[in-house]
Amino acid sequence: MKTTDTEQAAPPPNFIRNIVANDLKENKYDGRVVTRFPPEPNGYLHIGHAKSICLNFGIAAENKGGICNLRFDDTDPSKEEIEYVESIKSDVRWLGFDWGERQFFASDYFEKLYKYAMQLIKEGKAYVDSLSAQEIREYRGTLTEPGRESAYRDRSVEENMDLFTRMRAGEFKDGAHVLRAKIDMASPNMLLRDPTLYRIKHVPHYRTGDKWCIYPMYDFTHCLSDSIEGITHSICTLEFEINRQLYDWVLDALNVYHPQQIEFARLNISYTVLSKRKLIELVEGGHVTGWDDPRMLTISGLRRRGYTPASIRNFCERIGVAKRDSMVDVALLEYSAREDLNKHAPRVMAVLRPLKVVIDNYPEDKEEELEGENNPEDPKAGSRKIPFTRVLYIEQEDFMEDPPKKFFRLAPGREVRLKHAYYIKCVNVVKDEQTDEVVEVHCTYDPKTRGGWSEDGRKVKGTLHWVSAAHALKAEVRLYDHLFLKENPGDEKTGSDFKTYLNPNSLESLTSCMVEPSLAVAVPGSRYQFLRQGYFCVDSKDSSSNALVFNRTVTLRDTWAKIQRSRKK
Ligand code: ATP
Ligand code: MG
Repeated sequence: MKTTDTEQAAPPPNFIRNIVANDLKENKYDGRVVTRFPPEPNGYLHIGHAKSICLNFGIAAENKGGICNLRFDDTDPSKEEIEYVESIKSDVRWLGFDWGERQFFASDYFEKLYKYAMQLIKEGKAYVDSLSAQEIREYRGTLTEPGRESAYRDRSVEENMDLFTRMRAGEFKDGAHVLRAKIDMASPNMLLRDPTLYRIKHVPHYRTGDKWCIYPMYDFTHCLSDSIEGITHSICTLEFEINRQLYDWVLDALNVYHPQQIEFARLNISYTVLSKRKLIELVEGGHVTGWDDPRMLTISGLRRRGYTPASIRNFCERIGVAKRDSMVDVALLEYSAREDLNKHAPRVMAVLRPLKVVIDNYPEDKEEELEGENNPEDPKAGSRKIPFTRVLYIEQEDFMEDPPKKFFRLAPGREVRLKHAYYIKCVNVVKDEQTDEVVEVHCTYDPKTRGGWSEDGRKVKGTLHWVSAAHALKAEVRLYDHLFLKENPGDEKTGSDFKTYLNPNSLESLTSCMVEPSLAVAVPGSRYQFLRQGYFCVDSKDSSSNALVFNRTVTLRDTWAKIQRSRKK
């Protein structure tokens, strides 16, 4: 059976799905599929995380009995906060995924991890080093030269145990000692040159408070957390490929349950940055209004902008999973929003830059209710009543006093259709005496064109949206452009600060828009198509019943299709 809905189609194969299917066939993990999504709570989630979420939760859901854990990788007390934990949970839930009871924190494993560290010490596989951070760096060597061994490398097991115990007890200052794995200072993989497993940090942790003053490093924590939770497939991004040897070393050295790490390419999107460190800079530097600024490709920004969870999931499926880094065109993300909103968003009329129109031959006290279908894509969406009166607003750009030949909208002597209403013909204009600007357009209407169709079969080329001046609601509409002017602002190779590429015109706020009265009941977060203008969402923060605020999610222009066509040429 053919289906047009990507959500219902069988998922296409990718190399990770193939690995999982093969492991199941070979009964590698007794038929279990256990994945995890392991964010560090040091910022809000972005669209790149959505790819990882869809992959991890998706693989679990696709396989019978499969489960996916939500694990907070919280081993750096200086950057992590409970606010981030809460935002991450609400974002994952909003995307449509459920971790059930399986919410974990690496910080809950601190005691276990400490015991594992002790075990390594006892087995002569780890030692306390007292070199300074600077010396440790110098001793590490380079890609072409082997490193040097620290003089402390051969401390006795007893001395190491004593020092590590006292590190935990808080006897030493930050940086006085570290615990290192004893692997190989000459390894071609620099990460295996006796990596640090624990450092002293007298910083309270948002969950464990002052209980600890030593904290485990990522490479020690991550593999063991996976092992403790019985993860089968530990899916991470490509930059961790080089860490895999260390992942395997730690688990082998301790002889514990050993999941398989699999790397995939991280998502990059044009005209934006996707790194929490950079996103934080934008938030803290006041370049955006917050993590949920509708220009940010954070999950909360996309939600506020009007993206649906389904559109983000479809996008993540569409981009696929690869082993090589690449850049995805932001037009594809916008296409996914449009595709989903087209099916579900009711159509309404809103005039963004109003121009007054007076219908001279329409009685002053008359008022009609015209019928407008809510969504031609959805027969169940029904219709609504739209008030029509003598004074209306149309879009300024839909009128030209002196139009070129190909202008099919309103102009002196020309006739157009008002959507759902009548044909009108421009007979006169009123101008501002000082500026010479047209401030009022006078028209006549043809009563024999009710509903927008002429009884005599006469055709018009243009169809305009409009609102009745007496009924329209005033609204603010925010139009957005890309946050950056450069396709790859985060490119480190250029050597310039990514913030120099910020687009000064990424937000245009129109404060005297006029929208049709049916929008009086529009609740925050609800989405509409404004005819001819795009898809819009009621802002969830700044909109209220007496001050409507809309964000434009996307325009109606399908730039993605255009890009595809030009690629084929
Ligand atoms: P950032 O670079 O934005 O700080 P991170 O990798 O440090 O991201 P984590 O909180 O550690 O952020 O990420 C949680 C999970 O999300 C990891 O498994 C990580 O690989 C994945 N992830 C992060 N960014 C992307 C991305 N751009 N594309 C795909 N997966 C990503
Ligand atoms: Mg990280």
